[in-house]
Amino acid sequence: MKEYLVDAIVLKSVRAREADRVVTLYTRQMGKKRAVAHGAEKPASRKRGAVQPFSYSRLLLRRGRDLDTVSQGEGIEIFPGLRQSLEGLATASYLAELVDSFTPDEDPNQAIFDLLLDTFRILGDGDQSNAAWAFELKLVSLLGYRPGMEACVLCGSPVEGDRVRFLPEQGGILCSGCLPGAGRVLEITRGTLESLKALARWETRRVHRIKIDPSSGREIKKIIRRFTEYHLEKAVKSGRFIDLVNGR
Ligand SMILES: [Zn+2]
Repeated sequence: MKEYLVDAIVLKSVRAREADRVVTLYTRQMGKKRAVAHGAEKPASRKRGAVQPFSYSRLLLRRGRDLDTVSQGEGIEIFPGLRQSLEGLATASYLAELVDSFTPDEDPNQAIFDLLLDTFRILGDGDQSNAAWAFELKLVSLLGYRPGMEACVLCGSPVEGDRVRFLPEQGGILCSGCLPGAGRVLEITRGTLESLKALARWETRRVHRIKIDPSSGREIKKIIRRFTEYHLEKAVKSGRFIDLVNGR
């Protein structure tokens, strides 16, 4: 089979020599995949729109010796909402970068594909923070690092009280008995914990309805940053992610 069809979200698309573009795709059928679209920069090129960053397209790929090539392309969705503001584009490129950095090549994962597609669809609907936080929590869970937020992650006891201790390095919340010597804990309110659970659990298209006050927002930002940094870095041993997170 020399040619094959994929449904792909364009994570990255860079101009290459002549009028080519090198694209990094997240495909429904084969997971992450790089390909080259020859001549895509020519004004008359029919595949031009289909290989732009953050497009959802159906592409006909042809096996190549090095990179496979895009023979034909047709845009399915361009997510106009995320293109309306710099914030939308910045969030989209951050999320695309996370998927690019933390998924292996050619390892299909339908849930990650759907998460990315659903999240791109809602970027542009008001505040993007909820969408980005929910995406990160769901992505780390899909990669095998679901945060433990129901009971103490070390002993399973219920965690009482208005202040809750979260230890990213242990993967979630801790009871007072397990606390001593546990390391650098982050203290958050019960309300923040409930918001985190909702972000992790609610369907992507509904997460913007979760009401989060500014002080919880700051706690959530800290927790997600430490948690994803720790687990994703451990998963891939990539210094690039830290720069990415710190620069956000
Ligand atoms: Zn415990």
